[in-house]
Amino acid sequence: MEIAEKLIKTHSLTRKEALELLKYWEDPATAAKLVQAAEEIRRKYYGDKVFTRGLIEFTNYCKNNCYYCGIRCGNSHAARYRLTEEEILDCCKSGYDLGFRTFVLQGGEDPFYTDEKVAGLVKKIKASYPDCAVTLSIGEKTKEAYRLFRQAGADRYLLRHETANEKHYGKLHPPAMSLKVRKQCLYDLKELGYQVGAGFMVGSPGQTMECLAEDLVFLQELRPEMVGIGPFIPHHDTEFAGEPAGSVKLTLFLLSVIRILLPQVLLPATTALGTMDQKGREKGLAAGANVVMPNLSPVKNRKQYDLYDNKICTGEEAAECRECLGRRVASAGYRLVSERGDFAGAKD
Ligand code: SAM
Repeated sequence: MEIAEKLIKTHSLTRKEALELLKYWEDPATAAKLVQAAEEIRRKYYGDKVFTRGLIEFTNYCKNNCYYCGIRCGNSHAARYRLTEEEILDCCKSGYDLGFRTFVLQGGEDPFYTDEKVAGLVKKIKASYPDCAVTLSIGEKTKEAYRLFRQAGADRYLLRHETANEKHYGKLHPPAMSLKVRKQCLYDLKELGYQVGAGFMVGSPGQTMECLAEDLVFLQELRPEMVGIGPFIPHHDTEFAGEPAGSVKLTLFLLSVIRILLPQVLLPATTALGTMDQKGREKGLAAGANVVMPNLSPVKNRKQYDLYDNKICTGEEAAECRECLGRRVASAGYRLVSERGDFAGAKD
């Protein structure tokens, strides 16, 4: 309990302290203390607001082969699709009409969508919806490409670091990928003035408490504006098909810890959390999350963005998703808002 109090008081943890705190993840008294502190902090900065981001999963082609991911290039069973520019703009239009003021373009690393094409797309979205934020989540690019996207108007970039432990990174990714490059991308994005989102899966194969402690230390070092965490969920066409999924309880514990470590951070209650537990997203909000990301992708392609098994929200139209999440957020005692929802610290 002492260590939880230290975190709440100082908003910081060394690696050793993080490891000590993680010993208590199943202890109800420690979890309750952290949840209470996390709730007070999010109310201080964001009141009862929950921000919403319209997620457009625009391509599942990927040149990478991350071992955990259902759309990795080595999965020959994946039914590939990519949305046309027109389809993406249609998603934005219906999203805008539903009240979304942030669009997140997420996809595999698809060589068809060259840097120039992505920049052109961002420009078009920003020209049509100047009051909206555009977030990209399209993986590792050169600093020049990130600069091009930023000049085109991109505001934010989501790139989970996946794990801050070198050895663990090597277990999850092929030798061609490296943690060093991943981290460099995040620092490049920060330098270019993006609001940056890092993050990791909870319970990915080979993850130890030491890895999680390193994740927490890395987040304090990077100080991202957003942190996306959700349980690892196995996909049947990956080498991790038989591995257990990550724990919802540990994910919730970590959400509270991250809210306390980075008080103003934007913290999504993820679809993976909702997949593992029917009330996962509501529980995530109660633990300190303040963002939800309903899907705006065309229903005909939803099932094909198949990162892990049994992914939820693959059958509903955007309007239904928006309504359903609005109800869920209200039932958890919060208010889904339409505003862009920038990082609170950005205005300081
Ligand atoms: N290609 C981009 C990238 O690598 O950042 C964005 C798309 S990638 C599919 C989005 C996120 O999905 C990854 O950062 C990863 O954490 C998550 N993900 C992939 N496979 C998963 C799985 N089996 N369980 C839970 N999350 C998974």
